[in-house]
Amino acid sequence: MKMFNWRKPLISCLAYLPGTTIIKNLNAIRDFEALSYDKKLDCQQDKIKKLLLYAYEKVPYYSKILPECKVILNGKVCLKNFHHIPVLTKTIIRKEGKNLYSRDCKIRKFYQNSSGGSTGEPISIIQDKTYSEWNIANKIYHKSLAGQNIGDKELRLWGSERDLLATKESFCVSLRNCLYNRKDLNGFNMSLTDMENFTVQWNTFKPSWVESYVSVIYEFGKFINSRNISMYSPKGILVSAGTLYPEMRKKIESVFRCRVFNRYGARETGDMAFSCAVNNNLHLSLYNHYLEFLDDHLNACKHGQLGRVYVTALNNYSMPLVRYDIGDVAIPHGYEICACGRKTFSLKSVEGRTMSLFKTRTGKIIPAEFFIHFIGVVYNEGFISKFQVIQEDYEKIKIKIIVQNKEKFENSKIKIEDAIKKAMGKKCVVIWEQVLDIETAPSGKYFYTICRI
Ligand SMILES: [Zn+2]
Repeated sequence: MKMFNWRKPLISCLAYLPGTTIIKNLNAIRDFEALSYDKKLDCQQDKIKKLLLYAYEKVPYYSKILPECKVILNGKVCLKNFHHIPVLTKTIIRKEGKNLYSRDCKIRKFYQNSSGGSTGEPISIIQDKTYSEWNIANKIYHKSLAGQNIGDKELRLWGSERDLLATKESFCVSLRNCLYNRKDLNGFNMSLTDMENFTVQWNTFKPSWVESYVSVIYEFGKFINSRNISMYSPKGILVSAGTLYPEMRKKIESVFRCRVFNRYGARETGDMAFSCAVNNNLHLSLYNHYLEFLDDHLNACKHGQLGRVYVTALNNYSMPLVRYDIGDVAIPHGYEICACGRKTFSLKSVEGRTMSLFKTRTGKIIPAEFFIHFIGVVYNEGFISKFQVIQEDYEKIKIKIIVQNKEKFENSKIKIEDAIKKAMGKKCVVIWEQVLDIETAPSGKYFYTICRI
């Protein structure tokens, strides 16, 4: 017998309470998604103009620079000159501080939200209630694309140290989780005992949907696979906070026997792109963000080419982020008519943090996927349980590794080194460091590769 989902009407009622705009926003996003692509771009441009005008009028930093770069001419926005706006780096954010806050941020009920700091450059930004409600609506919309309904049983394998400290044992959180039919498991620096415990909790709770950090569910999946444990299969797993490499998707989908939905987001900007039920590309959230993909000279890169991501977040008026250098690299796919019916701009993949990419002296870029493939899969018959590759110099690579079978590892070492030398150059020296544990970053993200150049 199918149980009545009493949560959906109740949560919807709460979301309709006076003063909240979540459902209104959700409907606006749905209306927007039904538009033709050209209309979507027109609508996006209107939102950019509105934000820029507001920034010019209320934010000291933009009051100064927007007229200087001729984006504000005679009090009006001239979008033609948008690309003249200097990109907003983390250094500028730290230097300008409150000059980036709108003068009415108090009325807007702002709150602090620092970025995860996974780039090693944590910054403090402010957001407000309006932004937060758009963000929630956007999340609900993305989940609905996967097929997830409000109130469906959801298990969250979460990982941020900050989030966990903030929500520990709080009565409000317990109440909210009960209302939303949700269970949280702490995936921050998971130990073997944690994972054993998670299998029991997962199979007892029987989630319809699972939301997780990419690295957490991937490591957990590998553990399940190695122990040959039978797991309850949810309808889907939604991942975020890290790059989902094809190897990882394959592994997670085969272990949990369901589809993986990817999402690209950040603390500073909310969710910017998401995969639908039929496509592994990520559809951009055009209503809430304007994304540019630029090369090292700040020229737009071609579709299919790796570019740095610059974000203009369209809903946070307390601290407008315009052409914000978020520190990620991605490959734009371009306009597409997806089989899901959406006419949109998609990303082929998000290759992650710029610090995850290795570089050779000749300028070649080696993505983390290369190492995940060779160390994690091709030469690994289950004897490496975890690894992290660090490029210390152009010809110096350190591999931290947790080994389960020393003999097998010794036999494969040379093959792995050879593969690395083929990619990084013959002179490359590989240093192995066997460790007992490799920690995640404070943001909860796990880095398979770290480039220190
Ligand atoms: Zn689609």
